[in-house]
Amino acid sequence: MADCIFCKIIARQVPSEIIYEDDLTVAFKDVNPQAPTHLLIVPKKHIAGLSACGADDTALLGHMQMVAVAVAEKAGVASGYRLVTNNGRAAGQSVDHLHYHLLGGRCMQWPPG
Ligand code: AMP
Repeated sequence: MADCIFCKIIARQVPSEIIYEDDLTVAFKDVNPQAPTHLLIVPKKHIAGLSACGADDTALLGHMQMVAVAVAEKAGVASGYRLVTNNGRAAGQSVDHLHYHLLGGRCMQWPPG
């Protein structure tokens, strides 16, 4: 997608601190971190968000979660982290390219705001 910031990061057209990459995903540091560790796990395939996924994306979604486990380990937060996706404006989604936030390195509150 020409105007998608995450597609541009994936294509290396916009700089980012990429900490993991495989055939299907990239993970990079959030530019506006909300925790000492704040990573984004993003599919290379442009999908607008979770509710835009189809049945053929099921394996990709599972893969993204397993990538989250691996990058949490790599980032040193495996003992406790939060994995979340904001779906839709009302939930706080600001970038219309599916992504999981991986937050760690501090105590988390519940319920989230
Ligand atoms: P959301 O609001 O859930 O859609 O999350 C989008 C996230 O992308 C926010 O936490 C932003 O800080 C982050 N973000 C936006 N642009 C960039 C960028 N160029 N590099 C890294 N993170 C970004």
